[in-house]
Amino acid sequence: MSLLEIKNLTAKLADEDKQILNGLNLTIEKGQVAAIMGPNGSGKSTLSYVLAGREDYEVTGGEALLDGENILELAADERAAKGLFLAFQYPIEIPGVGQMTFLKAAINAQRKKNGLDEISTPEFIKLVNGKAKELGISPDMLKRSVNVGFSGGEKKRNEILQMALLQPKVAILDETDSGLDIDALKIVADGVNAMRSPDRSFVVITHYQRLLDYIKPDVVHVLSGGRIITTGGPELALELEAKGYADIVGKAA
Ligand code: ADP
Ligand code: MG
Ligand code: MG
Repeated sequence: MSLLEIKNLTAKLADEDKQILNGLNLTIEKGQVAAIMGPNGSGKSTLSYVLAGREDYEVTGGEALLDGENILELAADERAAKGLFLAFQYPIEIPGVGQMTFLKAAINAQRKKNGLDEISTPEFIKLVNGKAKELGISPDMLKRSVNVGFSGGEKKRNEILQMALLQPKVAILDETDSGLDIDALKIVADGVNAMRSPDRSFVVITHYQRLLDYIKPDVVHVLSGGRIITTGGPELALELEAKGYADIVGKAA
């Protein structure tokens, strides 16, 4: 069975009539790294927000089956507990809330939804320190308030740390900010590559091919006009980089 199966998904902004996703079909296999590319405004970010359960979007049709269960009927935190992770889900700065407190709360929220006891403090500290070390996160960063005063690169590292702690089944990474510098791209790519496994899938959403120099996708999907219009191998990303989207979008229209 496919890990994530999106069928005929239609969605719009809650307070507007215009549909943004228009019958989107997409299958993500277990262990796969799938790239989604597409022109600006094609609905890439909308897809990630709809899957994560952001409330300003409304699903008007279709389904998204995670392990056979339609997650579109679940609250956002329940989706997270089922193993869905949206990177850049917590880019907000939270003054006064320490990183350790925040991360422990995130882990415990997930454990509780899955019927597990809270993680003990020693176990948590060991886990976080281990992952932080692997990811090059300084102990100093762990002592600060969530994202407050963090550089772009530090926020990226932090997101990857959240992902490493929550161990999702499907991680969706939306590179909304195409202004990421090479160092930040490498942080994201190293984190993803370290976590690749036969049991975990990644959906890497990107407008530009350059991130895919560092994260080699198994498959590349092109989203345009709120639908997947074509699918190919990694070479499709290079072709799009060379020729632009006009050709492929024109053929699909
Ligand atoms: P992409 O990520 O592929 O650039 P988006 O999902 O951000 O595309 O946007 C898809 C379409 O929905 C665009 O036409 C965009 O203008 C519109 N849209 C998305 N979010 C909003 C919003 N919050 N307010 C108004 N329009 C939006
Ligand atoms: Mg955009
Ligand atoms: Mg976007």
